[in-house]
Amino acid sequence: MTRLTERFLRYVKIDTQSDPYVSTTPSTEKQKDLSRLLVNELFIMGYTDAFLDDLGYTYLKIPKNAEGFTPIGFVSHVDTSFDSPGAPVNPRIIQNYQGDTIELNTQISMHPNQFPSLKHVIGEDIIVTDGHTLLGADDKCGVAEMMELAERLIENPEIKHGDIYLCFTPDEEIGRGADHFNYDFFKASYAYTMDGSRVGEIEYENFNAAHAWVTFTGKSIHPGASKNKMVNASHIAFEFHQLLPKALDPSLTEGYEGFNHLTDIKSTVDHGQSIYIIRNHEMSLFEKQKDTFEMIKNFLNENMDTKQFHSL
Ligand SMILES: [Zn+2]
Repeated sequence: MTRLTERFLRYVKIDTQSDPYVSTTPSTEKQKDLSRLLVNELFIMGYTDAFLDDLGYTYLKIPKNAEGFTPIGFVSHVDTSFDSPGAPVNPRIIQNYQGDTIELNTQISMHPNQFPSLKHVIGEDIIVTDGHTLLGADDKCGVAEMMELAERLIENPEIKHGDIYLCFTPDEEIGRGADHFNYDFFKASYAYTMDGSRVGEIEYENFNAAHAWVTFTGKSIHPGASKNKMVNASHIAFEFHQLLPKALDPSLTEGYEGFNHLTDIKSTVDHGQSIYIIRNHEMSLFEKQKDTFEMIKNFLNENMDTKQFHSL
Protein backbone atom coordinates (compact mmCIF):
# COMPACT_ATOMS: atom_id res chain seq x y z
CA MET A 1 0.00 0.00 0.00
CA THR A 2 1.35 3.43 -0.89
CA ARG A 3 1.97 6.09 1.74
CA LEU A 4 -0.74 8.20 0.09
CA THR A 5 -3.30 5.40 0.49
CA GLU A 6 -2.29 4.84 4.11
CA ARG A 7 -2.68 8.53 4.76
CA PHE A 8 -6.12 8.59 3.17
CA LEU A 9 -7.30 5.58 5.19
CA ARG A 10 -6.06 7.23 8.38
CA TYR A 11 -7.95 10.45 7.65
CA VAL A 12 -11.28 8.89 6.63
CA LYS A 13 -11.54 7.13 9.99
CA ILE A 14 -11.74 10.47 11.78
CA ASP A 15 -15.33 11.72 11.96
CA THR A 16 -15.35 15.32 10.67
CA GLN A 17 -18.95 15.93 9.64
CA SER A 18 -19.97 19.57 9.60
CA ASP A 19 -23.42 20.65 10.81
CA PRO A 20 -25.58 23.15 8.93
CA TYR A 21 -27.87 23.63 11.94
CA VAL A 22 -25.33 25.45 14.10
CA SER A 23 -23.80 28.83 13.44
CA THR A 24 -20.43 28.46 15.22
CA THR A 25 -17.14 28.28 13.30
CA PRO A 26 -16.19 25.57 12.88
CA SER A 27 -19.71 24.16 13.02
CA THR A 28 -18.41 21.04 14.81
CA GLU A 29 -15.36 20.87 17.08
CA LYS A 30 -14.59 17.35 15.89
CA GLN A 31 -13.35 18.75 12.57
CA LYS A 32 -10.33 19.98 14.52
CA ASP A 33 -9.46 16.36 15.42
CA LEU A 34 -8.26 15.90 11.87
CA SER A 35 -6.81 19.41 11.62
CA ARG A 36 -4.70 18.86 14.75
CA LEU A 37 -3.46 15.57 13.32
CA LEU A 38 -2.47 17.36 10.10
CA VAL A 39 -0.51 20.01 12.01
CA ASN A 40 1.20 17.24 13.97
CA GLU A 41 2.11 15.31 10.86
CA LEU A 42 3.44 18.47 9.21
CA PHE A 43 5.55 19.15 12.32
CA ILE A 44 7.00 15.66 12.15
CA MET A 45 7.84 16.20 8.47
CA GLY A 46 9.75 19.33 9.49
CA TYR A 47 7.19 22.07 8.82
CA THR A 48 7.21 23.68 12.24
CA ASP A 49 5.33 26.76 10.95
CA ALA A 50 2.10 24.87 10.24
CA PHE A 51 -0.73 26.16 12.40
CA LEU A 52 -4.40 25.67 13.17
CA ASP A 53 -6.34 28.85 13.96
CA ASP A 54 -9.28 29.16 16.36
CA LEU A 55 -11.79 28.98 13.50
CA GLY A 56 -10.54 25.58 12.40
CA TYR A 57 -8.41 26.61 9.41
CA THR A 58 -5.01 24.96 9.02
CA TYR A 59 -2.29 26.82 7.12
CA LEU A 60 1.20 26.15 5.90
CA LYS A 61 3.63 28.11 3.79
CA ILE A 62 6.22 25.94 2.09
CA PRO A 63 8.97 28.48 1.42
CA LYS A 64 10.48 28.72 -2.03
CA ASN A 65 13.79 27.03 -2.76
CA ALA A 66 14.34 28.81 -6.08
CA GLU A 67 13.66 32.19 -7.67
CA GLY A 68 11.42 33.00 -10.61
CA PHE A 69 8.29 31.04 -9.70
CA THR A 70 4.83 32.51 -9.10
CA PRO A 71 3.51 31.75 -5.61
CA ILE A 72 0.69 29.21 -5.84
CA GLY A 73 -1.69 27.64 -3.36
CA PHE A 74 -3.74 24.52 -2.74
CA VAL A 75 -6.94 24.30 -0.73
CA SER A 76 -8.99 21.35 0.51
CA HIS A 77 -11.58 20.84 3.22
CA VAL A 78 -11.46 18.58 6.26
CA ASP A 79 -15.23 18.30 6.78
CA THR A 80 -17.51 15.70 5.23
CA SER A 81 -21.16 15.92 4.25
CA PHE A 82 -23.96 15.70 6.79
CA ASP A 83 -26.18 13.81 4.31
CA SER A 84 -25.21 10.32 5.51
CA PRO A 85 -23.66 8.89 8.68
CA GLY A 86 -19.98 9.91 9.01
CA ALA A 87 -18.77 7.20 11.38
CA PRO A 88 -17.57 4.56 11.86
CA VAL A 89 -15.98 4.51 8.40
CA ASN A 90 -14.76 1.03 7.44
CA PRO A 91 -12.92 1.39 4.14
CA ARG A 92 -12.16 -1.58 1.93
CA ILE A 93 -9.75 -1.71 -1.01
CA ILE A 94 -10.83 -3.54 -4.15
CA GLN A 95 -7.70 -4.47 -6.07
CA ASN A 96 -7.74 -4.30 -9.85
CA TYR A 97 -11.47 -3.55 -10.22
CA GLN A 98 -12.96 -5.32 -13.24
CA GLY A 99 -16.19 -3.40 -13.77
CA ASP A 100 -18.49 -5.79 -11.95
CA THR A 101 -21.16 -5.05 -9.32
CA ILE A 102 -19.66 -4.04 -5.99
CA GLU A 103 -21.46 -5.52 -2.98
CA LEU A 104 -20.88 -3.01 -0.20
CA ASN A 105 -22.89 -5.16 2.19
CA THR A 106 -25.74 -7.65 1.97
CA GLN A 107 -28.23 -4.89 1.16
CA ILE A 108 -26.32 -2.28 -0.82
CA SER A 109 -24.53 -2.80 -4.09
CA MET A 110 -23.17 -0.53 -6.82
CA HIS A 111 -23.53 -1.39 -10.49
CA PRO A 112 -21.54 0.54 -13.13
CA ASN A 113 -24.76 1.27 -15.06
CA GLN A 114 -26.09 3.09 -12.04
CA PHE A 115 -22.74 4.66 -11.13
CA PRO A 116 -21.08 5.31 -14.53
CA SER A 117 -17.99 6.82 -12.91
CA LEU A 118 -17.03 3.24 -11.99
CA LYS A 119 -16.37 2.61 -15.68
CA HIS A 120 -13.49 5.11 -15.53
CA VAL A 121 -11.63 3.12 -12.88
CA ILE A 122 -11.61 -0.35 -14.42
CA GLY A 123 -8.19 -1.87 -13.81
CA GLU A 124 -7.52 0.43 -10.85
CA ASP A 125 -7.54 -0.27 -7.13
CA ILE A 126 -10.55 1.48 -5.64
CA ILE A 127 -11.57 2.22 -2.07
CA VAL A 128 -15.18 1.79 -0.94
CA THR A 129 -17.08 1.79 2.36
CA ASP A 130 -19.13 -0.95 3.98
CA GLY A 131 -22.23 0.95 2.81
CA HIS A 132 -23.22 2.16 6.27
CA THR A 133 -21.40 5.49 6.15
CA LEU A 134 -19.87 7.98 3.78
CA LEU A 135 -16.33 7.22 2.70
CA GLY A 136 -15.39 10.85 3.10
CA ALA A 137 -13.26 10.86 -0.06
CA ASP A 138 -14.78 14.33 -0.46
CA ASP A 139 -12.49 15.77 0.58
CA LYS A 140 -10.08 13.54 2.48
CA CYS A 141 -8.66 12.74 -0.98
CA GLY A 142 -7.67 16.37 -1.41
CA VAL A 143 -6.35 16.54 2.14
CA ALA A 144 -4.23 13.40 1.63
CA GLU A 145 -2.91 14.67 -1.74
CA MET A 146 -1.80 17.98 -0.24
CA MET A 147 -0.15 16.29 2.75
CA GLU A 148 1.69 13.95 0.38
CA LEU A 149 2.79 16.97 -1.69
CA ALA A 150 4.21 18.61 1.43
CA GLU A 151 6.10 15.48 2.41
CA ARG A 152 7.49 14.85 -1.06
CA LEU A 153 8.72 18.42 -1.40
CA ILE A 154 10.59 18.30 1.90
CA GLU A 155 12.04 14.88 1.05
CA ASN A 156 13.15 15.98 -2.40
CA PRO A 157 14.77 19.42 -2.20
CA GLU A 158 15.98 18.98 -5.77
CA ILE A 159 12.38 19.73 -6.86
CA LYS A 160 12.56 23.50 -7.37
CA HIS A 161 9.49 25.56 -6.53
CA GLY A 162 8.31 29.00 -5.49
CA ASP A 163 6.34 29.76 -2.34
CA ILE A 164 3.51 27.27 -1.94
CA TYR A 165 0.59 27.90 0.41
CA LEU A 166 -1.63 25.17 1.78
CA CYS A 167 -4.96 25.64 3.52
CA PHE A 168 -7.28 23.01 4.96
CA THR A 169 -10.66 24.62 5.67
CA PRO A 170 -13.59 23.47 7.81
CA ASP A 171 -17.30 23.66 6.85
CA GLU A 172 -17.06 23.54 3.06
CA GLU A 173 -19.98 21.12 2.86
CA ILE A 174 -22.29 23.63 4.52
CA GLY A 175 -21.23 26.48 2.24
CA ARG A 176 -19.00 28.31 4.72
CA GLY A 177 -15.56 27.02 3.78
CA ALA A 178 -14.31 30.35 2.48
CA ASP A 179 -15.99 32.57 5.09
CA HIS A 180 -12.93 33.04 7.32
CA PHE A 181 -10.15 32.37 4.84
CA ASN A 182 -7.01 34.27 5.82
CA TYR A 183 -5.95 36.14 2.67
CA ASP A 184 -3.30 38.04 4.64
CA PHE A 185 -1.43 34.80 5.20
CA PHE A 186 -2.27 33.00 1.97
CA LYS A 187 -0.39 35.11 -0.55
CA ALA A 188 -0.70 32.85 -3.58
CA SER A 189 -1.27 34.45 -6.98
CA TYR A 190 -3.19 31.36 -8.09
CA ALA A 191 -4.72 28.57 -6.06
CA TYR A 192 -6.33 25.24 -6.79
CA THR A 193 -9.04 23.54 -4.77
CA MET A 194 -8.16 19.87 -4.52
CA ASP A 195 -11.73 18.63 -4.51
CA GLY A 196 -13.51 16.46 -7.04
CA SER A 197 -12.63 15.89 -10.71
CA ARG A 198 -10.72 13.04 -12.27
CA VAL A 199 -6.98 12.57 -12.58
CA GLY A 200 -5.59 15.04 -15.11
CA GLU A 201 -8.68 17.28 -15.11
CA ILE A 202 -8.78 20.94 -14.07
CA GLU A 203 -12.11 22.69 -13.63
CA TYR A 204 -11.70 26.41 -14.21
CA GLU A 205 -15.25 27.67 -13.83
CA ASN A 206 -17.92 27.43 -11.22
CA PHE A 207 -21.66 27.74 -10.72
CA ASN A 208 -23.48 30.33 -8.64
CA ALA A 209 -24.68 28.73 -5.44
CA ALA A 210 -27.27 29.44 -2.78
CA HIS A 211 -29.17 27.61 -0.08
CA ALA A 212 -32.88 28.06 0.58
CA TRP A 213 -33.99 27.26 4.12
CA VAL A 214 -37.77 27.21 4.09
CA THR A 215 -39.66 26.98 7.37
CA PHE A 216 -43.34 26.05 7.65
CA THR A 217 -45.49 26.95 10.61
CA GLY A 218 -48.67 24.93 11.10
CA LYS A 219 -51.48 24.99 13.62
CA SER A 220 -51.54 21.81 15.64
CA ILE A 221 -55.05 20.98 16.80
CA HIS A 222 -56.25 17.62 18.12
CA PRO A 223 -57.32 15.72 14.97
CA GLY A 224 -60.68 14.91 16.53
CA ALA A 225 -61.53 18.60 16.74
CA SER A 226 -59.54 20.07 13.91
CA LYS A 227 -62.13 20.67 11.18
CA ASN A 228 -61.37 24.01 9.51
CA LYS A 229 -58.76 24.76 12.15
CA MET A 230 -55.74 22.54 11.73
CA VAL A 231 -52.94 23.57 9.40
CA ASN A 232 -50.44 20.75 8.95
CA ALA A 233 -46.95 22.16 8.38
CA SER A 234 -46.00 18.97 6.50
CA HIS A 235 -48.78 19.64 3.97
CA ILE A 236 -47.42 23.13 3.37
CA ALA A 237 -43.95 21.69 2.85
CA PHE A 238 -45.36 19.31 0.18
CA GLU A 239 -47.30 22.18 -1.36
CA PHE A 240 -44.19 24.33 -1.51
CA HIS A 241 -42.24 21.57 -3.22
CA GLN A 242 -45.02 20.90 -5.74
CA LEU A 243 -44.98 24.55 -6.79
CA LEU A 244 -41.27 24.49 -7.73
CA PRO A 245 -40.52 23.92 -11.43
CA LYS A 246 -40.28 20.15 -11.92
CA ALA A 247 -37.80 20.46 -14.80
CA LEU A 248 -35.22 21.96 -12.45
CA ASP A 249 -34.89 18.84 -10.33
CA PRO A 250 -31.28 17.57 -10.60
CA SER A 251 -32.55 14.12 -11.59
CA LEU A 252 -33.67 15.80 -14.83
CA THR A 253 -30.73 18.15 -15.49
CA GLU A 254 -27.14 17.78 -16.66
CA GLY A 255 -24.05 19.77 -17.65
CA TYR A 256 -24.56 23.51 -17.33
CA GLU A 257 -28.28 23.24 -16.57
CA GLY A 258 -29.20 24.75 -13.22
CA PHE A 259 -31.21 22.96 -10.58
CA ASN A 260 -33.05 23.27 -7.27
CA HIS A 261 -32.24 20.29 -5.10
CA LEU A 262 -34.19 19.33 -1.98
CA THR A 263 -31.46 18.05 0.36
CA ASP A 264 -33.34 17.81 3.62
CA ILE A 265 -36.90 17.88 4.90
CA LYS A 266 -38.14 17.57 8.47
CA SER A 267 -41.63 18.26 9.67
CA THR A 268 -44.19 17.78 12.39
CA VAL A 269 -47.77 19.08 12.26
CA ASP A 270 -46.59 22.16 14.06
CA HIS A 271 -43.32 23.02 12.37
CA GLY A 272 -41.41 22.00 9.26
CA GLN A 273 -38.22 22.86 7.47
CA SER A 274 -36.92 22.09 3.98
CA ILE A 275 -33.43 22.80 2.75
CA TYR A 276 -32.71 23.29 -0.93
CA ILE A 277 -29.51 23.99 -2.77
CA ILE A 278 -29.85 26.27 -5.78
CA ARG A 279 -27.29 26.10 -8.60
CA ASN A 280 -26.83 27.79 -11.95
CA HIS A 281 -23.82 28.78 -14.04
CA GLU A 282 -25.80 31.68 -15.52
CA MET A 283 -26.24 34.54 -13.04
CA SER A 284 -29.55 35.82 -14.47
CA LEU A 285 -31.11 32.33 -14.39
CA PHE A 286 -29.74 31.83 -10.89
CA GLU A 287 -31.46 35.04 -9.75
CA LYS A 288 -34.67 33.85 -11.39
CA GLN A 289 -34.50 30.56 -9.50
CA LYS A 290 -34.07 32.43 -6.20
CA ASP A 291 -37.01 34.71 -7.13
CA THR A 292 -39.18 31.64 -7.68
CA PHE A 293 -38.56 30.58 -4.07
CA GLU A 294 -39.57 34.06 -2.90
CA MET A 295 -42.65 34.04 -5.11
CA ILE A 296 -43.86 30.68 -3.82
CA LYS A 297 -43.17 31.77 -0.25
CA ASN A 298 -45.23 34.95 -0.74
CA PHE A 299 -48.01 33.09 -2.50
CA LEU A 300 -48.33 30.51 0.26
CA ASN A 301 -48.08 33.12 3.00
CA GLU A 302 -50.93 35.05 1.42
CA ASN A 303 -53.09 32.00 0.83
CA MET A 304 -52.32 29.82 3.76
CA ASP A 305 -55.19 30.44 6.12
CA THR A 306 -57.01 27.15 6.59
CA LYS A 307 -59.89 27.78 4.20
CA GLN A 308 -57.81 28.83 1.21
CA PHE A 309 -55.21 26.17 1.87
CA HIS A 310 -57.84 23.47 1.38
CA SER A 311 -58.85 25.01 -1.91
CA LEU A 312 -55.29 24.99 -3.27
ZN1 LIG B 1 -15.70 18.75 -1.38
